[in-house]
Amino acid sequence: MAILPIRIWGDPILTKRAAAVDRVTAEERRLIADMLETMEAADGAGLAAPQVGVGKRIFVFRRGEEMHALVNPKIIRREGEKIGEEGCLSIPGVQAKVARAARVIVSGRNEKGKPVEYECEDGEEQGRAATCVQHEIDHLDGIMYVEKARPGTLSWLIEAVDEDGDDFIALQKTTPQEIKTYYKARAFPPHIHVLDMLREQVEKGKNK
Ligand code: ZN
Repeated sequence: MAILPIRIWGDPILTKRAAAVDRVTAEERRLIADMLETMEAADGAGLAAPQVGVGKRIFVFRRGEEMHALVNPKIIRREGEKIGEEGCLSIPGVQAKVARAARVIVSGRNEKGKPVEYECEDGEEQGRAATCVQHEIDHLDGIMYVEKARPGTLSWLIEAVDEDGDDFIALQKTTPQEIKTYYKARAFPPHIHVLDMLREQVEKGKNK
């Protein structure tokens, strides 16, 4: 298993539609194992194959304590609506509010090629599983969550200190253009809150 480099927004693979997988072979199983390891290392809730440079319809996600992989996923039912904060490993240091279905049923194949179906619901038990499934399937369609962000909610996460000297994360409004400009310059605004491995990837220009 290996931790794979994560593609950063601006990479063309992130805005392409990924291809369906005919058969789940040893190659897909290896990819899924690496994606699970990468998601854990990056402390993510989900990760789609295009984010590690592979244009296949595969993603991994957390549902509470469980971790699952789905090949050729399809949402077969959506219920309710909720607005929640989202982030993305391919857009580090940023968050925005997005409206999603509160509960979904998703079907597909697992790493063994066996048909599976999961009921996903945001909440105490499953974390952000429903949001995550919708966010990851968007990745497979070449859609980044910022395109769906509620107007005026796209923000940098800034490490700040309050009057009592306690650390907190402040939001600083931004735009898609500004974010892309920073990534292209291989830099972040000052005091950005981002995982070291993702900061390194942006700054060393592993985004090619
Ligand atoms: Zn994402």
